[in-house]
Amino acid sequence: MGRLDDRVACITGAGSGIGRATAELFAAEGAIVVAQDLDSSTAEETVAGLGGGHHVAVGGDVSDEEAMASAFAAILTDFGRLDVLVNNAGVFRLPGDGFDRVLAGEGPQICHMGYEPFMQMLAIHVGGTFLCTRAAVPLMLDGGSVVNLSSIAGIAGWGPAHYAAAKGAILGLTRSLARELGPHRIRVNAVAPGVINTPMVDELDSAMIDPLVSMTPMGRIGEAAEIASTVLFLAGNDGAFVTGQWISPNGGLITC
Ligand code: NAP
Repeated sequence: MGRLDDRVACITGAGSGIGRATAELFAAEGAIVVAQDLDSSTAEETVAGLGGGHHVAVGGDVSDEEAMASAFAAILTDFGRLDVLVNNAGVFRLPGDGFDRVLAGEGPQICHMGYEPFMQMLAIHVGGTFLCTRAAVPLMLDGGSVVNLSSIAGIAGWGPAHYAAAKGAILGLTRSLARELGPHRIRVNAVAPGVINTPMVDELDSAMIDPLVSMTPMGRIGEAAEIASTVLFLAGNDGAFVTGQWISPNGGLITC
């Protein structure tokens, strides 16, 4: 018997990294997976790797209100309900955010960060989490579980200002929604990973990653599957009395 037998679970950003690993684990635990991603072809690749079942792929930008309203309406039509939502889609860098100027040794990133990429980062992470949760809650007819991907950046401030601000806001949203949705039997929690081996990190400079690894008691970065197992704990019955919390799988990098 799987931990998510016959539960319908939507995972955003499921075409890559942590989202794909979560889709794989959820499917292995018996869930029907709706794999959502900006690029529908990567979501389809994820579904193709799940080994059969009623899983579906959905394309669309999580910060696009209309696209998310119709994506979740389609889930209702196809499956009649939703049990789990994992708000995972995200980016770390955006054009115009000034990171190139930091690499060129031109001083603090905030001095070169455009307002537009700052707000776009918030729109993707915070806006996307808001829009998907708002569309998902009416589908959680038998209660449910929402798991939001934050980051140690949102707790300890590592990472650029737009990303840290977005990931910190996700923690506030998580706590508020846990209070609001608890009476409706919907739990809301966050996972705040440390540095994890995914395409998002592959594209970063080792000058950024190496100091974090050297400060990590476990002496390594994490794997996407190690985050997926934390998401599973919160999504399924193992976390049945857990709501409004964050868990940070980070190898000991932060301990608060
Ligand atoms: P990833 O491999 O880059 O996967 C992120 C996925 O989200 C990609 O498939 C990406 O599509 C998709 N995406 C981006 N913007 C989107 C949008 N507007 N709408 C829908 N999908 C969108 O990154 P990851 O490392 O697995 O990250 C997953 C989550 O964990 C993110 O929220 C990230 O901030 C968080 N996180 C990661 C780490 C880490 O060290 N890797 C640490 C802490 C937290 P495209 O590839 O087409 O852009």
